[in-house]
Amino acid sequence: MAKSKINLIHQRLAFLHKDLLKRNITLQIFQSTEYSALPEKISQLCSEEDITHVYSNAEYEWDERQRDKAVKSTLKEIDVSFALFHDTCLVKPTDIFNLKNEPYKVFTPYFKRWLDAVSRQLPSVPDRNKARSTGFIKPKVEVSAEDLTKNDANKGTDNDISLSWPATDPVIIKKMNAFIIELAPDYPKNRDIPSIDGTSKISPYLSIGALSPKQCLYHVLQAHGEEALTPEHGAHTWVKEIAWRDFYRYVMYHFPHVSRGLPFQKHYQHFKWETNQAHFSAWRDGKTGYPIVDAAMIALKETGWMHNRLRMIVASFYCKHLMLPWQWAEKYFMSQLIDGDYASNNGGWQWSASVGTDAAPYFRIFNPTTQSQRFDPQGVFIKTWLPQLHNLSHKQIHEPSKSCDVQKLGYYLPIVDHKASVARTKQQFKGFLAAL
Ligand code: FAD
Repeated sequence: MAKSKINLIHQRLAFLHKDLLKRNITLQIFQSTEYSALPEKISQLCSEEDITHVYSNAEYEWDERQRDKAVKSTLKEIDVSFALFHDTCLVKPTDIFNLKNEPYKVFTPYFKRWLDAVSRQLPSVPDRNKARSTGFIKPKVEVSAEDLTKNDANKGTDNDISLSWPATDPVIIKKMNAFIIELAPDYPKNRDIPSIDGTSKISPYLSIGALSPKQCLYHVLQAHGEEALTPEHGAHTWVKEIAWRDFYRYVMYHFPHVSRGLPFQKHYQHFKWETNQAHFSAWRDGKTGYPIVDAAMIALKETGWMHNRLRMIVASFYCKHLMLPWQWAEKYFMSQLIDGDYASNNGGWQWSASVGTDAAPYFRIFNPTTQSQRFDPQGVFIKTWLPQLHNLSHKQIHEPSKSCDVQKLGYYLPIVDHKASVARTKQQFKGFLAAL
């Protein structure tokens, strides 16, 4: 998990702590390095405080599911009930199946059923609970919310990326609503341009549970009515992205091998990715000689966030031009992203490597130069992160080695040739599939 994401969680806990105190509820924080210690710890707390019910949000990754099973059975022994909710998605993974009663493997039919399910039960937001007058648990704090924020790495320094993402409810809701009301109608037109504010940037809040997808849909409906669920409305495309998020959770739930480092299409576990460390470092450090890729990777290190179009470009370049193992990059992204989300990140990487569910076909390979020309035509995004290319024209900026001495500018020659690497990758995939 990225440091910035840990800091964001701590920031959120400090807010939650204050918010709950207003309602006479004490937030107790326990830390454990091992999931295996949790059942005992929770069971002990229940016995000491006479707690009869435990509620939690489900997590769909393999280890987390095993943890929750263990918690449930330990609590059962002391007669405490344990209920899991599915509030990290809009539609619970076990709620929709195809006509054969099997889980969907392709997004489009899944989305159709998903939209039906959502339309049948539109979300409402319950009134906030009143302050408690009984059952107040005395604070017996193992770690206080304040302690957590005090101890954060980089807290208060220029390096604390999480400071750019205030995590209080009023700020989050205001930010999301500003997007939904003003920008969502134009989302289909603007969402692919990294240099403009065309997307919501709420992913960090969704990833730590400070915001739920139900709240997202609720506010869309408040602003645009049910019309927002029809394909003609701009917000429909945005709602579809929320459905992609649900879909990757669904896939992880029904096909647990994907959360254990394995490709969804299992035969690809034997595919020979290359293990060129120098290529990996050049990609990670923004030194590939492809400006759009390099600018995106530098921005990721500096800001902990990356625009979706850029995630697709750098991932395609990594998997298809460098042919490196997608699992390395999946891990690297998680170590950097403030919105690191296991299911979406895993789904995005498997999609890009053509080994996932509903993945890009192996022969459809992004050309980083034409992607750059289409989605950053004036090089605005590139110049923000690669100041050494500042004086290049919009014609030169996408492929500087073609028209200038890049090394003199303090930039890099392309580490691979586009045409040659694409041809080699296609041949590798074709040969691999033919030999199955
Ligand atoms: P918006 O465009 O405003 O979309 C609204 C919300 O919908 C997002 O916040 C997100 O929760 C969801 N969403 C949008 N696009 C996708 C998508 N393709 N897949 C799943 N959910 C989506 N998203 C993460 O939240 N965490 C990750 O770790 C992550 N890793 C990714 C890795 C790769 C290789 C790729 C290709 C995509 C990844 N995504 C990830 C998906 C997507 O890039 C981000 O969700 C999006 O850029 C977040 O910006 P936003 O909040 O402005 O999105």
